Amino acid sequence: MMATTLTGLRIWNGEGFCDADAIRIEGPQITAVGDAGDLAADAKVINYSGATAIPGLIDAHVHMVLDPEKRNPPDRDDVPDMVAMRRRARDMIHAGITTARDLGGGHWLELALRDDIAKESIEGPRLLCAGQPVTSSGGHCHFWGGEANSIDDINAVIDRQLEHQVDLIKVMATGGRMTSGSQPLEPQFSIPQLNQIVARAEQAGLGVAAHCHGTAGINAAATAGVTTIEHCSWVGKDGWASDYREDVAELIAEGHIAISPTVNAGWKRMLGNATGERISRALRDMIALDIGIIASTDAGIPGVFHHDLPRALDVFQQLTATSNAFTLATATSRSADVLGLGEVTGRIATGLSADLLIVDGNPLTDLKNLCRPVGVWVRGQPLDSL
Ligand SMILES: [Zn+2]
Repeated sequence: MMATTLTGLRIWNGEGFCDADAIRIEGPQITAVGDAGDLAADAKVINYSGATAIPGLIDAHVHMVLDPEKRNPPDRDDVPDMVAMRRRARDMIHAGITTARDLGGGHWLELALRDDIAKESIEGPRLLCAGQPVTSSGGHCHFWGGEANSIDDINAVIDRQLEHQVDLIKVMATGGRMTSGSQPLEPQFSIPQLNQIVARAEQAGLGVAAHCHGTAGINAAATAGVTTIEHCSWVGKDGWASDYREDVAELIAEGHIAISPTVNAGWKRMLGNATGERISRALRDMIALDIGIIASTDAGIPGVFHHDLPRALDVFQQLTATSNAFTLATATSRSADVLGLGEVTGRIATGLSADLLIVDGNPLTDLKNLCRPVGVWVRGQPLDSL
């Protein structure tokens, strides 16, 4: 097998800049990071002079089955369009998103997509999939078929996902905006029910992602010890982020639960307004408590496109006033660690998958450079040869 050495690079490895200018790739893996002079022997050399390599990006919350052009949620009988799903997957890798976590669909087609991508029969990011989210009867995203009211129902819904070989379990711990009749403010499950969901998933070696808007639901999910809290919107009577509670945030920190805040590029409109200010304060408080934040967009909901994480990262950085390095870590090294992929991807290091986003200029000085890709490598293959 011919090795490939990428040279002329500035290399940000997921945590910091490397004292190196070249990456050697053999098969799907990075086999060395170092000086071009040492790594070019017996290899095809590709020069990327002036560009920066960072690890391929990770979006921790997407829905491959959802069409962002559609305003209304799907009906229970709507069979997702596999051709459109493949197109979304291809668009994602062209934007440098080489891994994503899918947090809900109704027919397990996103798992079929995951398996086709893993077999390299089609182009796309590595996917982790949750299948049907556990929800209450008539609750948020009930149209995906995961309704459960009793402990027996909960076990049955989880076991059905396990039969389909999901990578994690998703629970709708509160209502959501996408489903009429469900209330974002209100919890959908009791703490004992959430405990059972976490225990059943743990028995199968899986984590739990909990959709939470209202503070009571956030508190319940944190108490039950889920793996990640999605959105974490702190919704109160006075709107988004109006009910931030320091004691609940401390519970999240003590439980080493990560937050996936689903900041999409459209949140640009909130920068500087009252809601944006409240969300910004809550995020900054959580970051100050050292709660892990992982980048996510909820791609697939109306107007949120699957390839838009690079633009969303710029908005996240402005919203949180964190450094570009902190922001990029939420979409690379930190996310990989939280998703259990730290030994697979998320860093540019020997032995990890060769998942690379190579951009013109330096994204550590300007995140807008993320939108100027000059090369993307997915599991050791450049896009044009995929
Ligand atoms: Zn979602």
